[in-house]
Amino acid sequence: MLQYFTIPVTAFAQNCSIVWCDETMEAAVIDPGGETERIEAEVQRLGVTLTAIWLTHAHIDHAGGTATLAERRQLPIIGPHPGDQFWIDALPQQSAMFGFPPAGQFTPTRWLADGDTVEVGRCTLGVRHCPGHTPGHVVFHAPQAHRVFVGDVLFAGSIGRTDFPGGNHDQLIASIRERLWPMGDDTVFIPGHGPEGTLGHERRFNPYIGER
Ligand SMILES: [Zn+2]
Ligand SMILES: [Zn+2]
Repeated sequence: MLQYFTIPVTAFAQNCSIVWCDETMEAAVIDPGGETERIEAEVQRLGVTLTAIWLTHAHIDHAGGTATLAERRQLPIIGPHPGDQFWIDALPQQSAMFGFPPAGQFTPTRWLADGDTVEVGRCTLGVRHCPGHTPGHVVFHAPQAHRVFVGDVLFAGSIGRTDFPGGNHDQLIASIRERLWPMGDDTVFIPGHGPEGTLGHERRFNPYIGER
């Protein structure tokens, strides 16, 4: 079964999650936006072995620590979807603009597409392409664990911003309705910022989406 531990990193308190298979203790880190020493300390404390970096999208607070961590631990970089190439290219400008430590560019070892799967130990997660916040945003769904790691697609009581280059409000709403809601009301989502919640609660009460 999939286990996870979430660490808020960077000045934006971005929820970086360490996910692992409790049979093999192999782990992946989702969205290492920064503070890579803290992430590595948690990996050690948990007693897991990092095998990959998975990215939901390439905004600085989610991807800023990727190059450093991948190089230091020799990890493959999985994701996001190729629609976010321009955000990866812009990482140096993003770090300057938001006052982050310099962030290196990188080339994903493997780009992701809708319907792909990713594996950590004996756990398999489904990949859904959920554009709108960024064109290449993906989410990672663990059906057995009833969890989905949604990055900046959906928040408790809110949704991702769509006023950045490549953002698209209608596309974001469609991603949420067509790709998140079918995962089921009891599925717990881990957002990029703020507290977890259930998809069912957001489907009924999130004022930015409307009931469907
Ligand atoms: Zn973002
Ligand atoms: Zn974010």
